[in-house]
Amino acid sequence: MISLRKPSRYTLLFLCLFGLFALQNCKSPDPLLTDQYIIDNVTVIDPINGDQGKRHLLIHDNQIALISKASITDEYPNTKIIDASGKYVMPGLWDAHIHFDYDKLVAPKMLDLFLGYGITYVRDTGGQIDIVKAWKEKAQSDPSRYPMVKIAGPLIDGKDNVYDGHSPKAPPLSVQSKDTSDIRKIVESLVQNDVDLLKAYEMLTPDQFAYLMQLAKKYGLKVTGHVPLSMTVSQAADLGFNSMEHFRNIELSCSYEREQLLDQRQSLLKNKDEIEGYVLRSNIHTAQRIRAIETNDESMTDEVLTSLKKNDTWQIPTLTLYAALADRPYLDGIWSESYEYLPDTVKNSWTARIKEMVSKPVTESLQQQVDWYSHIFSKVYEKEIPFMVGTDCPIYFLTPGMSLHEELRHMVRCGMQPIEAIQAATTNPALYFDMENEIGRVKQNYIADLIILDKNPLDDIKNTLTIHAVIKNGKYWSKSELEKILSSSSEEG
Ligand SMILES: [Zn+2]
Repeated sequence: MISLRKPSRYTLLFLCLFGLFALQNCKSPDPLLTDQYIIDNVTVIDPINGDQGKRHLLIHDNQIALISKASITDEYPNTKIIDASGKYVMPGLWDAHIHFDYDKLVAPKMLDLFLGYGITYVRDTGGQIDIVKAWKEKAQSDPSRYPMVKIAGPLIDGKDNVYDGHSPKAPPLSVQSKDTSDIRKIVESLVQNDVDLLKAYEMLTPDQFAYLMQLAKKYGLKVTGHVPLSMTVSQAADLGFNSMEHFRNIELSCSYEREQLLDQRQSLLKNKDEIEGYVLRSNIHTAQRIRAIETNDESMTDEVLTSLKKNDTWQIPTLTLYAALADRPYLDGIWSESYEYLPDTVKNSWTARIKEMVSKPVTESLQQQVDWYSHIFSKVYEKEIPFMVGTDCPIYFLTPGMSLHEELRHMVRCGMQPIEAIQAATTNPALYFDMENEIGRVKQNYIADLIILDKNPLDDIKNTLTIHAVIKNGKYWSKSELEKILSSSSEEG
Protein backbone atom coordinates (compact mmCIF):
# COMPACT_ATOMS: atom_id res chain seq x y z
CA MET A 1 0.00 0.00 0.00
CA ILE A 2 1.21 3.49 -0.79
CA SER A 3 2.23 5.52 2.19
CA LEU A 4 0.52 8.89 2.26
CA ARG A 5 2.42 10.87 4.82
CA LYS A 6 1.76 14.51 4.09
CA PRO A 7 4.83 16.09 2.50
CA SER A 8 5.69 19.71 3.04
CA ARG A 9 4.84 22.22 0.32
CA TYR A 10 8.53 22.59 -0.42
CA THR A 11 8.87 18.88 -1.07
CA LEU A 12 5.93 19.02 -3.43
CA LEU A 13 7.34 22.04 -5.19
CA PHE A 14 10.69 20.28 -5.57
CA LEU A 15 9.06 17.14 -6.95
CA CYS A 16 6.84 19.00 -9.32
CA LEU A 17 9.46 21.45 -10.62
CA PHE A 18 12.39 19.11 -11.02
CA GLY A 19 11.08 16.40 -13.20
CA LEU A 20 7.98 15.29 -15.06
CA PHE A 21 8.68 11.74 -13.94
CA ALA A 22 8.47 12.78 -10.34
CA LEU A 23 5.23 14.65 -11.03
CA GLN A 24 3.61 11.65 -12.68
CA ASN A 25 4.47 9.54 -9.69
CA CYS A 26 3.45 12.22 -7.24
CA LYS A 27 0.93 10.18 -5.22
CA SER A 28 0.78 12.41 -2.16
CA PRO A 29 -2.17 14.65 -1.31
CA ASP A 30 -1.53 17.59 -3.56
CA PRO A 31 -3.57 20.78 -3.70
CA LEU A 32 -3.17 20.75 -7.49
CA LEU A 33 -4.66 17.34 -8.08
CA THR A 34 -8.36 16.80 -8.63
CA ASP A 35 -8.75 13.19 -7.49
CA GLN A 36 -9.20 14.30 -3.93
CA TYR A 37 -11.89 15.92 -1.82
CA ILE A 38 -12.52 17.07 1.71
CA ILE A 39 -15.29 15.76 3.92
CA ASP A 40 -15.72 18.76 6.11
CA ASN A 41 -16.90 18.89 9.69
CA VAL A 42 -18.02 15.29 10.11
CA THR A 43 -18.25 13.33 13.38
CA VAL A 44 -15.96 10.32 13.14
CA ILE A 45 -17.24 7.00 14.49
CA ASP A 46 -14.26 4.66 14.58
CA PRO A 47 -14.98 1.04 15.63
CA ILE A 48 -11.99 0.94 17.98
CA ASN A 49 -11.85 4.49 19.32
CA GLY A 50 -15.58 5.26 19.23
CA ASP A 51 -16.94 8.77 18.78
CA GLN A 52 -13.97 10.98 17.88
CA GLY A 53 -15.86 14.24 17.62
CA LYS A 54 -15.74 16.59 14.64
CA ARG A 55 -13.03 16.02 12.09
CA HIS A 56 -12.01 17.06 8.58
CA LEU A 57 -11.08 14.23 6.24
CA LEU A 58 -9.03 14.43 3.08
CA ILE A 59 -9.82 11.61 0.66
CA HIS A 60 -7.09 11.20 -1.91
CA ASP A 61 -7.23 8.54 -4.60
CA ASN A 62 -8.68 5.52 -2.76
CA GLN A 63 -7.45 6.40 0.73
CA ILE A 64 -8.20 8.44 3.80
CA ALA A 65 -5.12 10.62 3.32
CA LEU A 66 -5.61 12.86 6.32
CA ILE A 67 -7.85 13.23 9.36
CA SER A 68 -7.53 16.62 10.97
CA LYS A 69 -9.06 18.31 14.01
CA ALA A 70 -8.53 21.71 12.41
CA SER A 71 -10.06 22.80 9.13
CA ILE A 72 -7.96 21.90 6.08
CA THR A 73 -9.84 23.86 3.45
CA ASP A 74 -7.20 26.60 3.32
CA GLU A 75 -4.43 24.08 2.96
CA TYR A 76 -6.10 22.46 -0.05
CA PRO A 77 -7.64 25.44 -1.82
CA ASN A 78 -8.52 23.78 -5.12
CA THR A 79 -10.11 20.75 -3.56
CA LYS A 80 -13.81 19.97 -3.65
CA ILE A 81 -15.44 20.32 -0.23
CA ILE A 82 -18.31 18.14 0.90
CA ASP A 83 -20.00 19.78 3.85
CA ALA A 84 -20.88 17.01 6.31
CA SER A 85 -21.91 19.19 9.25
CA GLY A 86 -24.22 17.26 11.53
CA LYS A 87 -23.33 13.95 9.82
CA TYR A 88 -21.41 10.91 11.02
CA VAL A 89 -18.82 8.84 9.19
CA MET A 90 -18.14 5.17 9.90
CA PRO A 91 -16.40 2.38 7.97
CA GLY A 92 -18.26 0.45 5.27
CA LEU A 93 -19.89 -2.75 6.53
CA TRP A 94 -19.26 -6.44 5.89
CA ASP A 95 -21.91 -9.02 5.30
CA ALA A 96 -19.85 -12.05 6.28
CA HIS A 97 -22.39 -14.63 5.10
CA ILE A 98 -23.99 -14.33 1.69
CA HIS A 99 -24.73 -16.58 -1.31
CA PHE A 100 -24.42 -15.29 -4.87
CA ASP A 101 -25.29 -18.76 -6.12
CA TYR A 102 -28.60 -19.31 -4.35
CA ASP A 103 -31.07 -17.52 -6.59
CA LYS A 104 -30.22 -16.69 -10.20
CA LEU A 105 -32.86 -13.95 -10.35
CA VAL A 106 -31.60 -12.13 -7.27
CA ALA A 107 -27.87 -12.51 -8.00
CA PRO A 108 -27.60 -9.81 -10.72
CA LYS A 109 -29.03 -7.27 -8.22
CA MET A 110 -26.87 -8.17 -5.26
CA LEU A 111 -23.82 -5.98 -5.92
CA ASP A 112 -26.02 -2.90 -6.37
CA LEU A 113 -28.02 -3.66 -3.25
CA PHE A 114 -24.83 -4.00 -1.24
CA LEU A 115 -23.49 -0.62 -2.36
CA GLY A 116 -26.85 1.07 -1.80
CA TYR A 117 -26.98 -0.18 1.79
CA GLY A 118 -23.34 0.61 2.62
CA ILE A 119 -22.07 -2.99 2.45
CA THR A 120 -18.57 -2.59 1.05
CA TYR A 121 -17.32 -6.14 1.68
CA VAL A 122 -18.95 -9.56 1.49
CA ARG A 123 -17.91 -13.11 2.24
CA ASP A 124 -19.64 -15.69 0.03
CA THR A 125 -19.98 -18.81 2.13
CA GLY A 126 -20.93 -21.36 -0.49
CA GLY A 127 -21.70 -21.79 -4.16
CA GLN A 128 -20.43 -23.41 -7.34
CA ILE A 129 -16.90 -22.21 -7.88
CA ASP A 130 -17.41 -20.94 -11.45
CA ILE A 131 -20.38 -18.84 -10.38
CA VAL A 132 -18.98 -17.29 -7.21
CA LYS A 133 -15.61 -16.71 -8.88
CA ALA A 134 -17.34 -14.84 -11.72
CA TRP A 135 -19.06 -12.53 -9.18
CA LYS A 136 -15.77 -11.95 -7.40
CA GLU A 137 -14.13 -11.01 -10.71
CA LYS A 138 -17.00 -8.74 -11.66
CA ALA A 139 -16.62 -6.93 -8.33
CA GLN A 140 -12.85 -6.65 -8.82
CA SER A 141 -13.42 -5.06 -12.24
CA ASP A 142 -14.66 -1.88 -10.56
CA PRO A 143 -13.71 -1.60 -6.89
CA SER A 144 -15.12 1.94 -6.71
CA ARG A 145 -18.55 0.59 -7.55
CA TYR A 146 -18.72 -2.94 -6.12
CA PRO A 147 -17.95 -4.47 -2.73
CA MET A 148 -14.83 -6.51 -2.13
CA VAL A 149 -15.90 -10.16 -2.52
CA LYS A 150 -14.29 -13.03 -0.62
CA ILE A 151 -15.30 -16.54 -1.64
CA ALA A 152 -15.24 -20.03 -0.13
CA GLY A 153 -16.32 -21.89 -3.25
CA PRO A 154 -18.69 -24.84 -2.68
CA LEU A 155 -19.56 -26.39 0.67
CA ILE A 156 -17.26 -29.38 1.06
CA ASP A 157 -19.55 -32.23 2.04
CA GLY A 158 -19.29 -35.96 2.63
CA LYS A 159 -20.55 -39.05 0.80
CA ASP A 160 -24.20 -38.13 1.43
CA ASN A 161 -23.89 -34.70 -0.13
CA VAL A 162 -26.71 -32.35 0.99
CA TYR A 163 -26.87 -29.58 -1.66
CA ASP A 164 -26.35 -31.79 -4.71
CA GLY A 165 -28.78 -29.95 -7.00
CA HIS A 166 -31.39 -32.71 -7.09
CA SER A 167 -34.26 -30.32 -6.34
CA PRO A 168 -34.93 -26.57 -6.07
CA LYS A 169 -34.76 -26.97 -2.27
CA ALA A 170 -31.23 -28.32 -2.59
CA PRO A 171 -29.44 -26.20 -5.21
CA PRO A 172 -25.96 -27.47 -6.18
CA LEU A 173 -24.01 -25.52 -3.56
CA SER A 174 -21.96 -28.40 -2.20
CA VAL A 175 -19.52 -30.98 -3.56
CA GLN A 176 -19.37 -34.61 -2.58
CA SER A 177 -16.26 -36.22 -1.12
CA LYS A 178 -16.32 -39.98 -0.64
CA ASP A 179 -12.99 -40.21 1.18
CA THR A 180 -9.92 -38.20 2.14
CA SER A 181 -8.38 -38.39 -1.33
CA ASP A 182 -11.49 -36.62 -2.68
CA ILE A 183 -10.91 -33.93 -0.04
CA ARG A 184 -7.40 -33.40 -1.38
CA LYS A 185 -8.61 -33.11 -4.99
CA ILE A 186 -11.33 -30.63 -4.03
CA VAL A 187 -9.06 -28.43 -1.92
CA GLU A 188 -6.30 -28.40 -4.54
CA SER A 189 -8.73 -27.36 -7.24
CA LEU A 190 -10.22 -24.62 -5.03
CA VAL A 191 -6.75 -23.30 -4.26
CA GLN A 192 -6.12 -23.17 -8.02
CA ASN A 193 -9.28 -21.09 -8.27
CA ASP A 194 -8.03 -18.58 -5.74
CA VAL A 195 -10.59 -19.09 -2.99
CA ASP A 196 -10.22 -16.95 0.13
CA LEU A 197 -11.37 -19.58 2.64
CA LEU A 198 -12.95 -23.06 2.73
CA LYS A 199 -16.33 -24.21 4.00
CA ALA A 200 -16.82 -27.55 5.73
CA TYR A 201 -20.25 -29.14 5.76
CA GLU A 202 -22.36 -31.41 7.88
CA MET A 203 -21.91 -34.86 6.31
CA LEU A 204 -18.12 -35.06 6.57
CA THR A 205 -16.61 -37.87 8.63
CA PRO A 206 -14.19 -36.95 11.43
CA ASP A 207 -11.29 -38.21 9.27
CA GLN A 208 -12.35 -36.12 6.31
CA PHE A 209 -12.80 -33.06 8.50
CA ALA A 210 -9.40 -33.51 10.17
CA TYR A 211 -7.72 -33.89 6.77
CA LEU A 212 -9.52 -30.81 5.46
CA MET A 213 -8.19 -28.80 8.41
CA GLN A 214 -4.69 -30.11 7.77
CA LEU A 215 -4.79 -29.09 4.09
CA ALA A 216 -6.27 -25.68 4.92
CA LYS A 217 -3.35 -24.98 7.24
CA LYS A 218 -0.92 -26.02 4.53
CA TYR A 219 -2.47 -23.52 2.11
CA GLY A 220 -2.97 -20.79 4.71
CA LEU A 221 -6.77 -20.79 4.39
CA LYS A 222 -9.34 -20.46 7.13
CA VAL A 223 -12.13 -23.03 7.38
CA THR A 224 -15.64 -22.00 8.27
CA GLY A 225 -18.87 -23.95 8.17
CA HIS A 226 -21.25 -26.21 10.02
CA VAL A 227 -19.96 -28.65 12.62
CA PRO A 228 -20.16 -32.12 10.97
CA LEU A 229 -22.94 -34.24 12.46
CA SER A 230 -20.43 -37.03 13.05
CA MET A 231 -18.55 -34.88 15.58
CA THR A 232 -18.99 -32.72 18.65
CA VAL A 233 -18.37 -28.98 18.59
CA SER A 234 -15.29 -29.33 20.81
CA GLN A 235 -13.77 -31.99 18.55
CA ALA A 236 -14.10 -29.66 15.56
CA ALA A 237 -12.79 -26.66 17.51
CA ASP A 238 -9.80 -28.63 18.80
CA LEU A 239 -8.84 -29.36 15.19
CA GLY A 240 -8.63 -25.62 14.56
CA PHE A 241 -12.06 -24.94 12.98
CA ASN A 242 -11.80 -21.16 12.46
CA SER A 243 -15.45 -20.17 12.50
CA MET A 244 -18.98 -21.53 12.77
CA GLU A 245 -22.01 -20.34 10.83
CA HIS A 246 -25.51 -20.02 12.40
CA PHE A 247 -24.36 -21.75 15.63
CA ARG A 248 -25.14 -24.83 13.54
CA ASN A 249 -25.34 -28.04 15.59
CA ILE A 250 -23.97 -26.38 18.73
CA GLU A 251 -27.07 -27.44 20.69
CA LEU A 252 -26.26 -31.10 20.03
CA SER A 253 -23.09 -30.73 22.11
CA CYS A 254 -24.72 -28.74 24.93
CA SER A 255 -27.14 -31.47 26.03
CA TYR A 256 -26.62 -33.78 28.99
CA GLU A 257 -27.53 -36.53 26.53
CA ARG A 258 -24.83 -35.51 24.10
CA GLU A 259 -23.09 -38.89 24.07
CA GLN A 260 -26.27 -40.79 23.29
CA LEU A 261 -27.12 -38.18 20.66
CA LEU A 262 -23.71 -38.59 19.04
CA ASP A 263 -24.09 -42.41 19.03
CA GLN A 264 -27.51 -42.10 17.46
CA ARG A 265 -26.19 -39.71 14.78
CA GLN A 266 -23.28 -41.96 13.94
CA SER A 267 -25.64 -44.86 13.46
CA LEU A 268 -28.06 -42.79 11.32
CA LEU A 269 -25.10 -41.51 9.27
CA LYS A 270 -24.32 -45.10 8.19
CA ASN A 271 -27.36 -44.54 6.01
CA LYS A 272 -28.25 -48.19 5.46
CA ASP A 273 -31.38 -47.26 3.51
CA GLU A 274 -29.37 -45.02 1.18
CA ILE A 275 -31.54 -41.97 1.75
CA GLU A 276 -30.43 -38.89 -0.20
CA GLY A 277 -28.16 -36.51 1.73
CA TYR A 278 -30.64 -33.62 1.96
CA VAL A 279 -33.31 -35.84 3.54
CA LEU A 280 -30.88 -37.68 5.78
CA ARG A 281 -29.54 -34.46 7.27
CA SER A 282 -33.03 -33.11 7.74
CA ASN A 283 -34.12 -36.35 9.48
CA ILE A 284 -31.19 -36.09 11.88
CA HIS A 285 -32.00 -32.46 12.72
CA THR A 286 -35.63 -33.38 13.30
CA ALA A 287 -34.69 -36.30 15.53
CA GLN A 288 -32.20 -34.36 17.64
CA ARG A 289 -32.42 -30.58 17.62
CA ILE A 290 -35.43 -30.02 19.87
CA ARG A 291 -34.45 -32.98 22.04
CA ALA A 292 -31.03 -31.38 22.55
CA ILE A 293 -32.53 -27.97 23.38
CA GLU A 294 -34.88 -29.57 25.88
CA THR A 295 -32.02 -31.45 27.53
CA ASN A 296 -29.69 -28.44 27.55
CA ASP A 297 -27.22 -28.44 30.38
CA GLU A 298 -25.51 -25.26 31.53
CA SER A 299 -22.24 -26.92 32.53
CA MET A 300 -22.03 -28.78 29.19
CA THR A 301 -22.74 -25.47 27.43
CA ASP A 302 -19.98 -23.82 29.37
CA GLU A 303 -17.57 -26.61 28.46
CA VAL A 304 -18.40 -26.17 24.74
CA LEU A 305 -17.98 -22.40 24.92
CA THR A 306 -14.70 -22.74 26.80
CA SER A 307 -13.40 -24.89 23.98
CA LEU A 308 -14.56 -22.34 21.37
CA LYS A 309 -12.85 -19.58 23.32
CA LYS A 310 -9.64 -21.58 23.77
CA ASN A 311 -9.47 -22.44 20.07
CA ASP A 312 -10.51 -18.96 18.88
CA THR A 313 -13.46 -20.37 16.93
CA TRP A 314 -15.41 -17.31 15.77
CA GLN A 315 -19.19 -17.17 15.42
CA ILE A 316 -21.43 -15.81 12.67
CA PRO A 317 -24.83 -16.17 14.37
CA THR A 318 -27.25 -15.07 11.58
CA LEU A 319 -29.89 -14.20 14.18
CA THR A 320 -32.15 -12.42 11.70
CA LEU A 321 -32.52 -15.57 9.65
CA TYR A 322 -34.08 -17.32 12.65
CA ALA A 323 -35.92 -14.40 14.25
CA ALA A 324 -37.63 -13.35 11.03
CA LEU A 325 -39.16 -16.79 10.57
CA ALA A 326 -40.92 -16.36 13.91
CA ASP A 327 -41.46 -12.57 14.00
CA ARG A 328 -42.44 -12.29 10.33
CA PRO A 329 -41.61 -8.64 9.67
CA TYR A 330 -41.47 -9.26 5.91
CA LEU A 331 -44.50 -7.29 4.77
CA ASP A 332 -43.80 -4.16 6.84
CA GLY A 333 -41.46 -1.18 7.02
CA ILE A 334 -37.89 -1.52 5.83
CA TRP A 335 -38.45 -5.11 4.73
CA SER A 336 -41.22 -4.41 2.25
CA GLU A 337 -39.47 -1.18 1.20
CA SER A 338 -36.36 -3.19 0.33
CA TYR A 339 -38.42 -5.62 -1.77
CA GLU A 340 -39.22 -2.69 -4.09
CA TYR A 341 -35.56 -2.79 -5.16
CA LEU A 342 -35.79 -6.44 -6.22
CA PRO A 343 -36.71 -7.50 -9.75
CA ASP A 344 -40.50 -7.69 -10.09
CA THR A 345 -40.51 -11.46 -10.59
CA VAL A 346 -38.59 -11.94 -7.35
CA LYS A 347 -40.70 -9.44 -5.42
CA ASN A 348 -43.92 -11.12 -6.56
CA SER A 349 -42.71 -14.62 -5.86
CA TRP A 350 -41.35 -13.70 -2.41
CA THR A 351 -44.56 -11.87 -1.51
CA ALA A 352 -46.72 -14.82 -2.52
CA ARG A 353 -44.58 -17.28 -0.57
CA ILE A 354 -44.48 -15.02 2.47
CA LYS A 355 -48.28 -14.66 2.43
CA GLU A 356 -48.62 -18.40 2.37
CA MET A 357 -46.13 -18.80 5.20
CA VAL A 358 -47.73 -16.21 7.49
CA SER A 359 -51.14 -17.78 7.01
CA LYS A 360 -49.93 -20.67 9.17
CA PRO A 361 -49.16 -20.34 12.88
CA VAL A 362 -45.57 -20.30 14.13
CA THR A 363 -44.83 -23.80 15.39
CA GLU A 364 -43.77 -24.34 18.96
CA SER A 365 -40.56 -26.01 17.83
CA LEU A 366 -39.58 -23.06 15.65
CA GLN A 367 -40.17 -20.68 18.55
CA GLN A 368 -38.08 -22.92 20.80
CA GLN A 369 -35.22 -22.80 18.33
CA VAL A 370 -35.40 -19.02 17.94
CA ASP A 371 -35.33 -18.58 21.72
CA TRP A 372 -32.41 -21.00 21.99
CA TYR A 373 -30.34 -19.07 19.45
CA SER A 374 -30.87 -15.79 21.34
CA HIS A 375 -29.91 -17.60 24.54
CA ILE A 376 -26.73 -19.10 23.13
CA PHE A 377 -25.84 -15.73 21.56
CA SER A 378 -25.83 -14.13 25.04
CA LYS A 379 -23.69 -16.97 26.38
CA VAL A 380 -21.15 -16.67 23.54
CA TYR A 381 -21.09 -12.91 24.05
CA GLU A 382 -20.46 -13.28 27.80
CA LYS A 383 -17.57 -15.61 27.00
CA GLU A 384 -16.06 -12.96 24.70
CA ILE A 385 -15.83 -15.24 21.70
CA PRO A 386 -15.44 -13.06 18.59
CA PHE A 387 -18.39 -12.51 16.27
CA MET A 388 -18.77 -11.51 12.66
CA VAL A 389 -22.01 -10.15 11.27
CA GLY A 390 -23.58 -12.18 8.47
CA THR A 391 -27.06 -12.80 7.15
CA ASP A 392 -27.33 -15.76 4.72
CA CYS A 393 -29.04 -13.48 2.19
CA PRO A 394 -30.89 -13.94 -0.11
CA ILE A 395 -32.10 -17.12 1.62
CA TYR A 396 -35.46 -16.87 3.44
CA PHE A 397 -36.52 -13.52 1.97
CA LEU A 398 -33.52 -11.61 3.34
CA THR A 399 -32.87 -8.68 1.03
CA PRO A 400 -29.14 -8.29 0.40
CA GLY A 401 -27.93 -5.13 2.09
CA MET A 402 -30.97 -4.28 4.19
CA SER A 403 -30.76 -7.58 6.09
CA LEU A 404 -27.28 -6.76 7.38
CA HIS A 405 -28.69 -3.74 9.23
CA GLU A 406 -31.37 -6.00 10.71
CA GLU A 407 -28.66 -8.38 11.89
CA LEU A 408 -26.85 -5.52 13.66
CA ARG A 409 -30.12 -4.60 15.34
CA HIS A 410 -30.70 -8.18 16.52
CA MET A 411 -27.20 -8.45 17.95
CA VAL A 412 -27.79 -5.30 19.99
CA ARG A 413 -31.23 -6.53 21.03
CA CYS A 414 -29.53 -9.68 22.34
CA GLY A 415 -27.12 -7.73 24.54
CA MET A 416 -24.29 -6.24 22.49
CA GLN A 417 -23.32 -2.58 22.67
CA PRO A 418 -23.76 -0.77 19.32
CA ILE A 419 -19.98 -0.25 19.06
CA GLU A 420 -19.43 -4.00 19.49
CA ALA A 421 -21.94 -4.83 16.78
CA ILE A 422 -20.15 -2.34 14.52
CA GLN A 423 -16.79 -3.99 15.28
CA ALA A 424 -18.28 -7.35 14.35
CA ALA A 425 -19.18 -5.88 10.94
CA THR A 426 -15.95 -3.93 10.34
CA THR A 427 -12.72 -4.57 12.27
CA ASN A 428 -13.42 -8.24 13.08
CA PRO A 429 -13.89 -9.45 9.48
CA ALA A 430 -10.89 -7.31 8.47
CA LEU A 431 -8.84 -9.16 11.08
CA TYR A 432 -10.26 -12.53 9.94
CA PHE A 433 -8.82 -11.86 6.49
CA ASP A 434 -5.56 -10.29 7.79
CA MET A 435 -6.55 -6.88 6.42
CA GLU A 436 -6.83 -5.04 9.72
CA ASN A 437 -4.17 -2.51 8.72
CA GLU A 438 -5.93 -1.59 5.47
CA ILE A 439 -9.69 -1.62 5.98
CA GLY A 440 -12.37 -1.45 8.64
CA ARG A 441 -11.53 1.82 10.37
CA VAL A 442 -11.82 5.56 9.95
CA LYS A 443 -8.10 6.07 10.16
CA GLN A 444 -5.40 7.79 8.18
CA ASN A 445 -3.95 5.70 5.34
CA TYR A 446 -6.85 3.24 5.46
CA ILE A 447 -8.78 2.55 2.28
CA ALA A 448 -11.67 5.00 1.96
CA ASP A 449 -14.61 2.58 2.19
CA LEU A 450 -16.98 4.65 4.31
CA ILE A 451 -20.62 5.39 5.08
CA ILE A 452 -21.85 8.87 5.92
CA LEU A 453 -24.94 8.80 8.14
CA ASP A 454 -27.53 11.37 9.16
CA LYS A 455 -27.70 10.03 12.71
CA ASN A 456 -25.25 8.58 15.23
CA PRO A 457 -25.18 4.75 15.14
CA LEU A 458 -23.84 4.65 18.70
CA ASP A 459 -27.04 6.30 19.97
CA ASP A 460 -29.20 3.72 18.23
CA ILE A 461 -27.90 0.96 16.00
CA LYS A 462 -30.89 1.45 13.69
CA ASN A 463 -29.18 4.67 12.61
CA THR A 464 -26.82 2.67 10.37
CA LEU A 465 -29.76 2.83 7.97
CA THR A 466 -29.78 6.65 7.82
CA ILE A 467 -27.38 6.54 4.88
CA HIS A 468 -26.49 9.93 3.44
CA ALA A 469 -23.64 8.75 1.20
CA VAL A 470 -21.32 5.80 0.63
CA ILE A 471 -17.65 6.10 -0.27
CA LYS A 472 -16.23 3.07 -2.05
CA ASN A 473 -12.52 2.88 -2.75
CA GLY A 474 -12.43 6.67 -2.53
CA LYS A 475 -15.39 7.30 -4.84
CA TYR A 476 -18.23 9.34 -3.36
CA TRP A 477 -21.77 8.06 -4.00
CA SER A 478 -24.40 10.58 -2.95
CA LYS A 479 -27.79 9.54 -1.63
CA SER A 480 -29.49 10.35 -4.93
CA GLU A 481 -26.94 8.33 -6.91
CA LEU A 482 -27.43 5.40 -4.55
CA GLU A 483 -31.20 5.68 -4.86
CA LYS A 484 -30.83 5.59 -8.65
CA ILE A 485 -28.69 2.45 -8.47
CA LEU A 486 -31.08 0.75 -6.07
CA SER A 487 -34.17 1.60 -8.13
CA SER A 488 -32.65 0.75 -11.49
CA SER A 489 -31.73 -2.65 -10.16
CA SER A 490 -35.43 -3.60 -10.08
CA GLU A 491 -35.92 -2.79 -13.76
CA GLU A 492 -32.81 -4.28 -15.37
CA GLY A 493 -32.09 -7.90 -16.18
ZN1 LIG B 1 -25.41 -19.90 4.18
